[in-house]
Amino acid sequence: MEKHRHCLNCGISIPPDETFCSEKCKDEYIKKRKRIMRAQLIVLFVIFVVLVIFVWLRG
Ligand SMILES: [Zn+2]
Repeated sequence: MEKHRHCLNCGISIPPDETFCSEKCKDEYIKKRKRIMRAQLIVLFVIFVVLVIFVWLRG
């Protein structure tokens, strides 16, 4: 059985001891992750604000 991994960013086959096919791909992946994390934080914040307003309106 052939042992290999896939680049976490673009998905091409890479050696089993690698995580990304290139430094460029690694940077792209980290940037993407940061964007997703920021989006999730914004969503959580909006949910929090809505909950606070809801509780506040109900007294
Ligand atoms: Zn890649």
